[in-house]
Amino acid sequence: MTNPIASILDHQPVLVIDGALATELERRGYDLKHDLWSAKILLEQPEAIQQLHYDYFKAGADCVITASYQATVAGFMKRGLNENEAIALIQKSVKLAIAARDEFWKEETNRTGRSKPFVAASVGPYGAFLADGSEYRGNYGLTEQELMDFHRPRMKALIEAGADILACETIPSLIEAQAIAKLLKEFPNATAWISFSARDEKHVSEGKVFADCVKVLEEYSQIIAIGINCTSPRFIPALIREAKQTTNKPVLVYPNSGERYDATKHDWDGQRIYESFGEEAKEWYDAGARLIGGCCRTTPEDIQVIAGWARASSR
Ligand SMILES: [Zn+2]
Repeated sequence: MTNPIASILDHQPVLVIDGALATELERRGYDLKHDLWSAKILLEQPEAIQQLHYDYFKAGADCVITASYQATVAGFMKRGLNENEAIALIQKSVKLAIAARDEFWKEETNRTGRSKPFVAASVGPYGAFLADGSEYRGNYGLTEQELMDFHRPRMKALIEAGADILACETIPSLIEAQAIAKLLKEFPNATAWISFSARDEKHVSEGKVFADCVKVLEEYSQIIAIGINCTSPRFIPALIREAKQTTNKPVLVYPNSGERYDATKHDWDGQRIYESFGEEAKEWYDAGARLIGGCCRTTPEDIQVIAGWARASSR
């Protein structure tokens, strides 16, 4: 079992995660108003995804998260693909990220003062497959076993495609996090991070106390970082402090820009709450987070700001 997070944090104080994929593709003019979201682009315009991954490496990201958040065997089969085609498309998300990483890394000037970046394969929650906003609520009414069965084929495909780690993200509930943690044991060489979505400064989206969820995951050795993503930045410092009380694993945060997602409109409401997302992120480092990036509505420019102060503080 390799630990790509520990090997980077041995050399630098902060591991920089990338920023948004789907909303950034939209900002670049791609149409994602679809149940498959960024998976639609995976199917139709994969070069746009590879370019964006490259841009995040260039901006300073130590890892990028693949376009598999909404890519599931069941979701693609609903769209008319057969099982083998669905698995191939899921694996393509990993291959695009590896290709972008290799292209970036082969340039000597890109390697100066950098650790070799890695590829984190996105494992979105069951609610992302439903595409009705329930990933921010949980309460699907599924058992742990049913959730394991849902996650198994994609997890297997992502690992076999060569992902360095699984990014299990925007997880709304402890039951889904535990289903993933248990399922990981079927793939003993794989590692993962588990990142919840939160409803406030203390509770994950479904309502359980975040610190209690973190504590339950502490015993799983394949889980090598725990944190929060796709949550308003205003809740982040308090959530980091909560996590630090119950885990010795590195804490990761990649909040959204502070707007609210409206599932019925497939769109985001409101304004960004900070002048500079990347500058605010220093506060998350001070609170104890060691993997820092951005989720929905954040950009390569935001990641560049984070990488700027993160790398300066390591010298
Ligand atoms: Zn997000």
